[in-house]
Amino acid sequence: MTLRIASCSCGQLSARVSGEPIRVSVCHCHACQRRTGGVFASQARFPRSAVEISGTGTEYVRVGDEGGRARFTFCPVCGVTVYYLSEGREDSIAIPVGAFADSSFPAPTFSVYEERMHPWVSMPEGIEHMA
Ligand SMILES: [Zn+2]
Ligand SMILES: [Zn+2]
Repeated sequence: MTLRIASCSCGQLSARVSGEPIRVSVCHCHACQRRTGGVFASQARFPRSAVEISGTGTEYVRVGDEGGRARFTFCPVCGVTVYYLSEGREDSIAIPVGAFADSSFPAPTFSVYEERMHPWVSMPEGIEHMA
């Protein structure tokens, strides 16, 4: 079974993940742009039972445009978000794809909030576009 490790910059907080992601997506919304510092966010969702966390994290709860809450856990030393949980979907855990630092990670199949997409960004052929 594939084993992958997502980690913050300093290595203090990490998530050890077994198996393939349930879903890989990118989100162009402004909240995700602010969270990541990038022009879009890329995240992979795994069953919670497939993820083992080690280290200490600080939690930040973000309330989305439609009232949904997500709990982001970041390293208090270097500030990198290593995982998050979405309210109502606590059976799975989302991990920013960049935290794996692995260029062979599966490509996203969903692209969300494209009305906020920077005009110079283009998405891969065949990706599913969602509002
Ligand atoms: Zn860190
Ligand atoms: Zn977003």
